[in-house]
Amino acid sequence: MNITSQSGFSYFFDPAACRACAGFCCRGQSGSIWVNAREIARIADFFESNQIDIIHRYLTPVDNRLSIRERFADGQFSCVFFADQEKKCSIHAARPDQCRRFPFWEHYRNRIDELFRECPGVRLTPGI
Ligand code: SF4
Ligand code: SF4
Repeated sequence: MNITSQSGFSYFFDPAACRACAGFCCRGQSGSIWVNAREIARIADFFESNQIDIIHRYLTPVDNRLSIRERFADGQFSCVFFADQEKKCSIHAARPDQCRRFPFWEHYRNRIDELFRECPGVRLTPGI
């Protein structure tokens, strides 16, 4: 489950919105989803595979780090683990911390309008 609020952010997140959403946080523009050794091990456990296989199949180097590969189809990018608009993340239980922290990313802290366009689960915190 995603976190629903975080100190220093002027919005909160309603996870119930994900049920009716087409998974806009996992597709659209190209972007990096970083994974570290602990997260690679978690994904490998999920697939009952080994970390080398996970790296070769699903990850790509970006700026000396590893990011999840993307697909490009119908004019948009999507995370290689994005199943479809109904099922969304195919590794939900093992998804990286960056995904678990969405929508509380530093990038969005002062870009709330951009975030509102992307995620229908974001609500302004009352009184702010
Ligand atoms: S964009 Fe927001 S509402 Fe939609 S699936 Fe992602 S977190 Fe859930
Ligand atoms: S790992 Fe899952 S939650 Fe994270 S971007 Fe990919 S499909 Fe979305």
